[in-house]
Amino acid sequence: MRLLLVEDEDGIGKFICQGLREAGHTVDWVQDGQQGWEYALGTVYDVIILDLMLPKKDGFELLHELRNSAVKTPILCLTARDAVEDRVRGLNAGADDYLVKPFDFSELLARVHALLRRPPLQVEDVLQVGDLEMDTLRRTVHHKGKLLDFSQREYMLLEYLMRNAGQVLTRTQIGERIWGFDFYHESNVVDVYIGYLRRKIDREAAEPIIQTVRGVGFRLNDEPKNA
Ligand code: CA
Repeated sequence: MRLLLVEDEDGIGKFICQGLREAGHTVDWVQDGQQGWEYALGTVYDVIILDLMLPKKDGFELLHELRNSAVKTPILCLTARDAVEDRVRGLNAGADDYLVKPFDFSELLARVHALLRRPPLQVEDVLQVGDLEMDTLRRTVHHKGKLLDFSQREYMLLEYLMRNAGQVLTRTQIGERIWGFDFYHESNVVDVYIGYLRRKIDREAAEPIIQTVRGVGFRLNDEPKNA
């Protein structure tokens, strides 16, 4: 499952990230409310873990804005000890659950899993964009009915683009998402992999589905073709 962690404290963030990754989850970790906002809007997460005291935009404000933007992802808030008012405020602002610091990792994991079990599940198994169809359970991709073969990274990149079809994704978003902490911002690895995907998908297309948005990043075109 894909989780977003918004936590400014290094020690706690690393502790949570490591534990969740060991439990088999994919985790994006950002350290201020503004980035939390950008990530939460840019990607569909299964659960968001949100510290309430954050720089740039605090957790309450972020909660309000996400719920006002119809982001329905379950949100688990982290609050300081003895801050009873914060818990109430957080729940009123749209949080689904809260956990008081300090906590045992096993309790965090139990609560995340409880939120993941809540219907409706937002993750679709089969993604369809234009002529592309991805079955995320079988990990297969068909283009115009023809089975295509992808490396692990290519597949992850394509899934990310398909889940965010129509939205512009920056090189940094893509790099951090697919390569995580190994991503080096000056590298051209994103462009290289976009090139690999194009060779497999768009080589003979009159209207390429993978679009470059100059100076920004890339977008998968999800608009129906002109007749
Ligand atoms: Ca904090």
